[in-house]
Amino acid sequence: MDKRIINMLHTRTSRLQPGDSIQEPLVATSIYHLPAEPAPDRIYGRLTNPTVQAAEERLAVLEDAPTLLFASGMAAYHGVFMATLKAGDTVLLLSDGYYAVRHLMDAFLEQFDVRLQTCPARDISSVPLDGIKLVVIESPTNPLLDIIDIAALAKRSRAAGCLLAVDNTVCTALMQQPLDLGADIVLSADTKAASGHSDVLIGHVSSRDEALMERVHSARTLGGGIAGPFEAWLLLRGLETLDVRLERMCSNAQAVHAVLDNHRAVMSLHFPIEPHPQMSRSGFLISVNFADQKTAECFIENSGVFLPATSFGGLHSSADRRQRWGDEVDAGFLRLSIGCEPREQLVSAVQKALDSLT
Ligand SMILES: *Cc1c(COP(=O)(O)O)cnc(C)c1O
Repeated sequence: MDKRIINMLHTRTSRLQPGDSIQEPLVATSIYHLPAEPAPDRIYGRLTNPTVQAAEERLAVLEDAPTLLFASGMAAYHGVFMATLKAGDTVLLLSDGYYAVRHLMDAFLEQFDVRLQTCPARDISSVPLDGIKLVVIESPTNPLLDIIDIAALAKRSRAAGCLLAVDNTVCTALMQQPLDLGADIVLSADTKAASGHSDVLIGHVSSRDEALMERVHSARTLGGGIAGPFEAWLLLRGLETLDVRLERMCSNAQAVHAVLDNHRAVMSLHFPIEPHPQMSRSGFLISVNFADQKTAECFIENSGVFLPATSFGGLHSSADRRQRWGDEVDAGFLRLSIGCEPREQLVSAVQKALDSLT
């Protein structure tokens, strides 16, 4: 992976001419100079854009696969669904996966006779895949941080003749490479850690199946879901520091976990101290259960560091009480996203907030 990271950071280097900007230019245009026969790709901004292509090229290096950027993580899902599904097909989703995906299915795709089947992450290894067209999973799941063995599921999917798509938002390509583990498609909400500054909505789809990617591109062009150049540029900027940020966020998470672990105010904790072999690090999400809603909210407030916000993967630590969104968890359940704050201050803020609860 380190080699992919270096190559990603230097995709532009070998092409530089004297006087070129070292940083990728932000090209804000909807149209291109088209005097005679249309150029094959640069026709119109809904098909592609140089800044979007620059970000796609870098993600393609990390994923080791052709990649297309979308206006958000959900737009990426929409592109994959449009490209892969037809009436009569069945999609298997996690009942404890990202909620909006199930909602997109039952609010819109079911009316076109695309059928939805769901199961919790912990049951997916035993659910029969016969008759399923597309399986979409996340690992680790969110907010309970359950792990699904991607390689084993990819093998079963292949045998059953269905496509496996992995939403790799939580890990990013730096911590987990689902395509290398046998998945057909990677989806990512780069809105989260990949961009990392909580200032942009953007997503991507990667696959080594070129015919499939052609359909995804068509779905994007005709559906109008391409990312804007400024958003792509913000993502490019985020990718430059992704490795450094993840290193800090993940080691901060280890330190915060150590403080939470065994504290009498904490009822239960979810965090893989030792990462699963398919992940290079344990991640930056910690799920923690307090006695009730009030205790959880006091913890956030008294810490002075956790921003009460949904979403995750930003520079700043944040906390989300998941029951308010309908997750099947207790009222005192928080998903913590650990950020890049200086470790000692972060740890002592968490310690102080915990001690204030008892
Ligand atoms: C946020 C998120 C999405 C959706 O991404 P948007 O950019 O908000 O559309 C999809 N999957 C997961 C796991 C997410 O966390």
